[in-house]
Amino acid sequence: MIQSVAFIGLGAMGYRMAAHLPKQFDTVYVWNRNFTKAEQHAAEFGTQAVALEQAVQADIIFSCLPISQDVENLIASVTLKSGSIWVDCTSGVPESAKKLAAALKQQNVAFLDAPVSGQTIGAETGTLTVMIGGDAVAFERALPAIQTFGKLIKHVGEPGAGFAVKAVNNMLMAVNLCAVAEGFTTLKAHGVDLHEALDCINASSGKSNVTETVLPQRVLNRSFPLTFALPLLAKDTGIAVDLVRQAKLSAPVLSLTQNLIQAASDQAEENSDFSSAMIMYEKWSKITIE
Ligand code: NDP
Repeated sequence: MIQSVAFIGLGAMGYRMAAHLPKQFDTVYVWNRNFTKAEQHAAEFGTQAVALEQAVQADIIFSCLPISQDVENLIASVTLKSGSIWVDCTSGVPESAKKLAAALKQQNVAFLDAPVSGQTIGAETGTLTVMIGGDAVAFERALPAIQTFGKLIKHVGEPGAGFAVKAVNNMLMAVNLCAVAEGFTTLKAHGVDLHEALDCINASSGKSNVTETVLPQRVLNRSFPLTFALPLLAKDTGIAVDLVRQAKLSAPVLSLTQNLIQAASDQAEENSDFSSAMIMYEKWSKITIE
């Protein structure tokens, strides 16, 4: 019986995801490094802002931090309750999930890697896609809590499998991001109206999430709103190419995309949204995608 849940890491995603938990559970602890955010969350959504030591005594503990190393450091600093389940919604490193799942098993704690997709709007509306690796029994126990913010929820395999699916998904999006920047600067160089071109492509075989949402909602209107930081996308493409290397495969398109996204991230202004990777192409071509 799940009596209490906790959410650790109230960033762009976590703040919104944790807001759904009180609909299903009476006791919802929240903790954030900058504690003011936890207090603000408690005031806004009826959660309880508590010390980290108390938060990790919940039956299910969610985390959503930038990288796996942050999660490892946090877990190493606390004592967990036997029988609890740690559900990590960070877009993390599969090897780290394997290590944490094995280590926590010694304490009778299950670790599920449960990264999410659907951006901040999906977190807000509780319609995220959640891809989960780890123990199947723990997955079933944690499901009602995950369903508060997830719509499509899939158990995809052993520890690390969820992180692997997420890294490859974001890599595929990054491939599209680069390809669309190259395609649309080329069209503009040929004097084509980009808005009309976009309508055609979105009704044709070249469409993708990038042409359907990123390009019209973030780039063509020059808004580049910060909802998913470009360095986080560079981190995800890095995880994906590490997976390629570990499998001793060759993936030239993915490797090149990782280099491009890392370069875009390195030269971007601080606090740039992932969509601003296209700005690198604009600088190279001296063509604005608008
Ligand atoms: P943010 O940068 O908005 O939030 C990060 C959160 O982690 C903050 O609460 C921050 O606390 C906390 N944090 C950072 N470093 C540490 C640390 N060392 N110890 C403890 N807490 C720490 O990130 P997002 O919410 O955008 O992303 C979180 C994860 O979700 C990432 O792995 C990302 O790739 C993934 N993701 C993001 C999506 C998006 O659209 N933004 C979509 C899907 C997945 P503080 O407030 O104190 O800084």
